[in-house]
Order: sequence, then C-alpha cells, then structure tokens
Amino acid sequence: MLAPCPGRGGVYGRGVSTSIAVLGSTGSIGTQTLDIARADPDRYDVVAIGAATSVDALAEQAAEFRPALVALADDARAAELRDRLPAGTELVAGDDALAAASTEADCVINGVVGFAGLPVTLASLAAGKRLGLANKESLIAAGPIVQPLRDVAGAELVPVDSEHCALHQCLRANDEPERVDRLVLTASGGPFRGRSAADLAEVTIEDALAHPTWSMGPKITVDSSTLMNKGLEVIEAQELFGIGVDRIDVVVQPQSVVHSMVAYSDGSTIAQLSMPDMRLCIGYALAYPDRLTLPYGPVDWSAALQLDFEPPDRATFACLDLAYDAGREGETAPAWLSAANEVVVDAFLTGRIRWIEIAEILKEALAAYDGTKASDIEAVLQADRTSRAVTRKLVDGKAAA
Ligand code: MG
Repeated sequence: MLAPCPGRGGVYGRGVSTSIAVLGSTGSIGTQTLDIARADPDRYDVVAIGAATSVDALAEQAAEFRPALVALADDARAAELRDRLPAGTELVAGDDALAAASTEADCVINGVVGFAGLPVTLASLAAGKRLGLANKESLIAAGPIVQPLRDVAGAELVPVDSEHCALHQCLRANDEPERVDRLVLTASGGPFRGRSAADLAEVTIEDALAHPTWSMGPKITVDSSTLMNKGLEVIEAQELFGIGVDRIDVVVQPQSVVHSMVAYSDGSTIAQLSMPDMRLCIGYALAYPDRLTLPYGPVDWSAALQLDFEPPDRATFACLDLAYDAGREGETAPAWLSAANEVVVDAFLTGRIRWIEIAEILKEALAAYDGTKASDIEAVLQADRTSRAVTRKLVDGKAAA
C-alpha cells in the first residue's frame, strides 16, 4: 500500500522543541544530525546518542550535548566511557543498548551502518516514534517484519536516504496513489561511471572510495561504486512506497542535483533538486510536515547549471539487476542479498578480493538463495546468517585463487 505522507499535528509544529535520539551518532549521518541540532538548539533537543564502539567521539558528543542517555554497543568499553560522561548522563551498554536508547525521544535518527541497525528500527517503531531512517539495510532485509510496525499508534517512518527523501517530497504533489505511474531513482553513477569492465579489472580500494559528489561512510561508498547501493535503494523504495520494483526506474544523474522523481499518469514528472547535502534529508525527516528554517544545499539558480541524465550501464554494473531480482523474489531474498553484500564489501575493503569480483560473488551467492519465507524475525536473522556463511565460503574460494 502506498502511504502518501500522512500529516502529523502538534508535536512537530513551529516553536516546539523536538527531542531526538541519534543512533550511530559518531558516523557520517549521526554527526550531520548533530550539526542540525547544534544549529537550531531551540528546536532540537538531543536526549540520546549511541554508537557501536567509538568511545572518544561519544564522550566528546556527550560533553557538548549533555544527553540524558548515552548508548554503547561494546560492553567491554563501558567502564572507560562511564568515567568520561557529564553528571546527569546515564550510560547503557551491550547488544540491546542502541535499541533501548531509541525509545527515549520523539524522533529517532537511525544512522547505524548495515544489518546491525535493525533493532533500532524495530524498537523505535514499536514504541510509536517517528523514525528518520538512514539505515536502509534494516528495511531492505526485514521489510515484512518492519511493515506491520508502521501501523503502531504514533509510529512513522520518514526516509533519510536522499533519493527516498526526494520521492517522499515528490509524492506530496498528489494525494491519489493510483495516479503514480513510475518512481525514478537517480544515481550519481559513482566513481566508475563510463568505465568498461576491462577498465575496472584493477581498480583499488582508494579508487572505489573516491566518490565524485557525496561524502559518505566506506560501506555505502563502495556500494555506490558497484551500483549495489542503487539496487538496494530500489528495494527500499518498494518497501517504503508500496510500488513494485518493476515500476521503479534508475537513471544516472552525474551532478547529484536531481535526487529522484515521480512520473504521474498525466505525463508530469515531479523532481526534487538540491546540492548534495545529507543534512537537508535528515532535517526533512526531523521537521516533516514542516521544514527546517536553515537551508542545506540550496541550488544557486543565478549561476549556470547543467543537468545530465543517462541510462545506467547494467552489464558492467551487474549488481543493479541482482537487486531487482532479489526485490522481485521478496521474502528473505533481500535479506540474503544485503547480508552477502556486507560480506563482499568487507572482503574488498580488507583487500581480500578485487572490485570486479564483488558482483561475481554476489551473483553466486544469490543463486544459492534457499527461498526461506520471511515469516518472522528469526527467519530473517537465519537468512542473514546463512547468507553470510555461504558468501564467506565464496570469498575464501576467490581469495585463495
Ligand atoms: Mg541514497
């Protein structure tokens, strides 16, 4: 079902402070969320922060924002952090800490990296919170588990991913879901746009991490270089907006100014434009249905601006169609693909496999998909574990070759 952006009264209105929990607070999304809170402290009150292991950065953030709660997933370093927290700030540590911290605020920003972000997504929606979701993996892998929680009273999922933030905005142009023809996701094309497969045989980790337009963490930057990020976003859009992957297109927009588009039944295409700046997207999720009063990434329309569009090279960047396959398959196939992808990206970043082997291994990993139904959370977790085990073996085979 398409959920066309329900309004929300009261709490998020002008002049009223919103309490926010920032999970994954020391990463790229987390620190940019804190930028917004720092810029508008009357409007945003940081009541909880949390990270996996970054004790030094958490201590610094706690000193600045004085949240009620700090969460640290790494139990072993809890004592070290506790001594460095300001008076009045409580520490929760351990596997469940980030999820526990996500029930403490009006609005949760989930900036945790990878499948590890799933507990935050589940806990914040179950607690009836607004969830600003930057952790796409949790929705992609566990869509069938996450979806029912969107019906919990007060729960609201607002995407932070720039393309989905754009789609969310473009869908507000019309309140009749049946008039949506297609969703059009834009892609920068990543650092290897225009290169041939032969050309890409020997690219390095540094090459893959040199994104032309966006500054992001290493995992998503590698995903951008393979177009797997775009593929995962196609599945994410299917889950968020209830439109099947075969009505979702991908177009390369190298300037990363048009962030996505909705094509309507009357021939109109509505687009959202801004310079690449994730703070706009994070702020949209915080302020919706209102908007931030401070601009992030406004386009300077007094200067010349060129916008190009081109179809993606699906043969060279085979990960894109692997994601379409998994999205069409549904059930635990997206969990399987996303888990396999985390394993191969890690293997690439640690120098065990070459860039061109990422898609090769993922193709084999997806071929081994066992067809398990996403009947409950345990089935999703099992799919994640099995896929990782299968993919690790494939990686070991390549690395040894
Ligand atoms: Mg994105």
